[in-house]
Amino acid sequence: MKDTFKHKGMRQQLVTVLVTKGIKNEKVLRAIAKIPRHLFMDSSFLDHAYQDKAFPIAADQTISQPYTVAFQTELLQVKKDDKVLEIGTGSGYQTAVLCELGAKVFSIERQQELFKKTSKFLPQLGYRAKKLIFGDGYKGLKEEAPFDSIIVTAGAPFVPKPLLSQLKIGGRLVIPVGEDVQIMTLFIRNGAKEFEQHEFGEFRFVPLLEDKN
Ligand code: SAH
Repeated sequence: MKDTFKHKGMRQQLVTVLVTKGIKNEKVLRAIAKIPRHLFMDSSFLDHAYQDKAFPIAADQTISQPYTVAFQTELLQVKKDDKVLEIGTGSGYQTAVLCELGAKVFSIERQQELFKKTSKFLPQLGYRAKKLIFGDGYKGLKEEAPFDSIIVTAGAPFVPKPLLSQLKIGGRLVIPVGEDVQIMTLFIRNGAKEFEQHEFGEFRFVPLLEDKN
């Protein structure tokens, strides 16, 4: 595992690209400047790691585009020690961003192959999520609820009810909703049964699938 000055330079350029695209949160930008994204990818794509693009990882899944990671993370407004639930661990890149922000991260992945690979890889890089779970994110994680925020990193055909009910009052759910194309949607829980909803345009994700595999 190598992280060179060349990689650091390329990351800095990526950060500049994200700033031009409208990302403002300094802590999010700092996390992206720090995390060696090339190490989260298959070797055949290493040269492309610092382009603002999604790329294939194992099990037919993708590592999200850096802009998408930054955009979703910005919407979460993570504070240090926040309890954050992530649905779709995948490569673990988004998990690492949340760890850099000081969150206590719980992350669920439904593909066993990815779950195993990422469970081994993240600690090697020094990123310790509170818990990585092999399971079905549609159900959330009742035993650890409520969460300050929840982030879904796969396209959800509908908003799973458990995710809304596992938010703290004042908590935020960021979820791309739709079938072929998804609308990035933010829910803020204002009361036991009151949710504020905001929409942020179109994104494309691999689908949120039911059950684990
Ligand atoms: N956050 C990841 C994005 C991976 S792509 C990263 O930074 O690399 C989305 C991931 O969601 C895939 O790994 C996919 O297997 C997973 N996924 C799909 N449906 C799921 C579900 N119901 N529960 C948990 N994970 C799911």
